[in-house]
Amino acid sequence: MTNWEDKLTAFLHDPPSKALNIPGHEGLSDKLREVWYIAKGDDALYDQISASADRPGVPGHKEGCSVDFVEIPELTHPISAGRLRLNLTVAKPDIATLEEYLVKTLKGMALSENDTNKSKFFTLFEGLKQALSQNEHTFYSIWNKMPADTRIPDHSIWHHNSLVSALSACKNAPYFFVFSLGPVQGFISEARKLRDLWVGSMILSYLAWVGIRVICDDFGPDHIVYPSLSGQPFFSEYIQERGLSELVESIEPDQKKIASFPNKFVAILPKDSVTDEGKRIEEAILSEWKLIADSVYQRASMRAASNLEYFKQAWERQNSRLWECYWLASPWFKTLDDNLAKGLPESDKTNINKLVKLFQEASGYPVNQGICYSPSHGIVQALHAALKNSRRFQEGYREPGDKCTQCGTRQQLSTSENRGDTRAFWKHMKEGIGDDIRDGERLCSVCLIKRIVGRGSQGLPPTLGNVFKNASFPSSTAMAFDPIVRKLKKLAKSEIWNDFVSECGGDEKPYNILHDNDDKDHPDEKVSRFLRRLRVEAGIKPTNIFGKYYAVLLMDGDKMGDLVNGKADKLATWQDIMHSSLPEKLRESKSKERTRGWLEQGILQKKRHLTPSVHKAISEALGDFALNTVPYVIKRHHGHLIYAGGDDVLAVMPIDTVLRAAEEIMELYRAPFLVKRFEETDWRVKKCNGEYTPEKGEKLLIHLGEAATISAAVIIAHHKAPLKGVIHEAHQVLEKEAKDGADRDAVAILLKKRGGAEKLVAKKWKNDGDAAYIALLTELVKALCDYDQKASSKLMYKIEQNKTALETLVKEGPEGSVEKFLESLIEKGQRNKDKNNGKWEQERATLAKRLKAILLDKDSTLKMDGLMIARFLAQAIGGE
Ligand SMILES: [Zn+2]
Repeated sequence: MTNWEDKLTAFLHDPPSKALNIPGHEGLSDKLREVWYIAKGDDALYDQISASADRPGVPGHKEGCSVDFVEIPELTHPISAGRLRLNLTVAKPDIATLEEYLVKTLKGMALSENDTNKSKFFTLFEGLKQALSQNEHTFYSIWNKMPADTRIPDHSIWHHNSLVSALSACKNAPYFFVFSLGPVQGFISEARKLRDLWVGSMILSYLAWVGIRVICDDFGPDHIVYPSLSGQPFFSEYIQERGLSELVESIEPDQKKIASFPNKFVAILPKDSVTDEGKRIEEAILSEWKLIADSVYQRASMRAASNLEYFKQAWERQNSRLWECYWLASPWFKTLDDNLAKGLPESDKTNINKLVKLFQEASGYPVNQGICYSPSHGIVQALHAALKNSRRFQEGYREPGDKCTQCGTRQQLSTSENRGDTRAFWKHMKEGIGDDIRDGERLCSVCLIKRIVGRGSQGLPPTLGNVFKNASFPSSTAMAFDPIVRKLKKLAKSEIWNDFVSECGGDEKPYNILHDNDDKDHPDEKVSRFLRRLRVEAGIKPTNIFGKYYAVLLMDGDKMGDLVNGKADKLATWQDIMHSSLPEKLRESKSKERTRGWLEQGILQKKRHLTPSVHKAISEALGDFALNTVPYVIKRHHGHLIYAGGDDVLAVMPIDTVLRAAEEIMELYRAPFLVKRFEETDWRVKKCNGEYTPEKGEKLLIHLGEAATISAAVIIAHHKAPLKGVIHEAHQVLEKEAKDGADRDAVAILLKKRGGAEKLVAKKWKNDGDAAYIALLTELVKALCDYDQKASSKLMYKIEQNKTALETLVKEGPEGSVEKFLESLIEKGQRNKDKNNGKWEQERATLAKRLKAILLDKDSTLKMDGLMIARFLAQAIGGE
């Protein structure tokens, strides 16, 4: 059993405001413990665990190397170069008052009477930092980023303290525990509608949380290394429901609908508990899935009365084989003599030994197992990957009978193997369930669950039931039509759309009707009337492109393994993560025997090593990215998120905004520091450039910075294209084109025209010296929108005809000759513009330059695809 009181002592070994008053921090710790009458524990032990687990050894106060955070409040980024200077509103904060405020806030926190010590712990872990940020006027949102060490302010005291409490509960034998749940793509992407994709993602995210919840319950949230729990809606709801802590920060309704838990988590657990805990987690996930499945079983089995036994057998067989849980644990080893460490590359060992010498000499403390954190973590991840691979090749199981029309792998639900019976069963199902089942659809139990589970919250676990209650998700038709609805609004003609909506009966119906009438020569009367009004009253001419295409945006962080294992190319150096005043202090210190290691030539420019608190900081960065930044950008650009978990993003977007949204997400992912600003019913996220003044109603966020990159796939598809194929292609294009072909840090765009023609480009977001690709492409689209359509089609044709000549000019022609040639191909095709003043020449030159940049492919060859995509978008957005 977990001794929560021991954990409290460990967590409070350093007060949250330690950075503001290092000499007085122990006295304050005593005061905070007294608030809750907690006995003082073995401080020396905690200090030892914490110091060497987390901190690079550097000289301290006695050597003249202490840093005064109040004088120069500065944070550094844990993995990328980048620092943030805080502008405090008062020149000299009154430390005594701040400490009093801290004690008073802790005293005022409401606790659960049932499980007081556990409740105290959750309050320390999550509630206190939220309460502190609300009412204090000097630091506000900085409270949740208060550094643990002012000399190396790259991780927060909250991360550090939660590591120490987790380690104290692991006694002397911490193990890394890795758990993953699958199948991910198999489960999510078997979908006909966007809504099924979202429902599948939401269920997977919830089940991952159910696993994490077991650890929170048994050992505490401090044991989770990845993902970060702070601010996660499921975690907050769990705390509030069980009365474990007051939480003042509200979770926005939009955030509750984000599938934000990745399917894998990492924890630190005591050695003797890992096996039991793994089993408990697996059981909890499977029994929660059974609850979800049962809620649909009730509704479906009613229609199988003619042979319930047959129906039930298939149902149970399919559901019991669905989930794959892969988990294992391996030790956080204490020295490099450990058996597991034998496989480490020699260069890693040499590196670690050098660091041990450096840290010991500089700090005067012996280095213990903290230094082995990073390699131990690397090994458990490798073991976990190997475990997954070894099971993947086990012989597959084959289901009997006719297969599900959705996934094609499991048997269709029925009351017998007879096709007539099956048809009768599904006819009966459709009568009971309605629009969610289409004519001819015959599903397996899993596909049926995903299709209808969200339609009612009855019988569902309440947390999930609340998410699905009244939650709608737009269809691909709605996404495709969105630019037209917005255009009407812009023209102040929204009544044309509103009339159509009410005529159709609201909700999803207008889109369903548009969808079903799309290919008809003689559409439904309502639709004809609507299209006529669009033409006559708003001047909008729907074509077979305009209003018919939407986009899927898939993004994924590059080389995350390298990043979390400390091997990223642009990983921060020692100097990057140090407080800016420290290097000079090291040089000027009189204690040369302590500082000499750090003063060695080139050492400050070497890559930093990774510590557990830094891992927690990376987890928090990914959590903040998924919960705050991604949804903010997607919403601003009129899209809808299917999932954003860790570094993975899947969203559906209108085609006129998708490119800009992708670029913005990429830019914010790579920003080191950002600010979230709460507004009335919403929030905004913006970058911080080097300086920040804490303000009420804001929250400081840290993202990954320049050491990380992210790649994207954008698929532009017809709203009637089968969704499963579109999602599959998004994954292919991301892996093969953006990551392999363009070597990551890239975007790949695939245009899937109806009828099969495809155009594809894959480019770096930005090439050295060139303009950013997306900006270039969107400018070209805009220019082509202004262009006469006939002239623009002629221009494309002429470029295609002259491709070889242009290529020769690229390779052999004098500078500017390609542009001159392109200019000669451009006609005066612009609409509504005065073509006779000097501006036209200028515009033609700009257009030629853009055309060239988009045309240029690898090795000085030209590729038409980018141009064709730009022209298509211009037609689709321009509306003719
Ligand atoms: Zn199926």
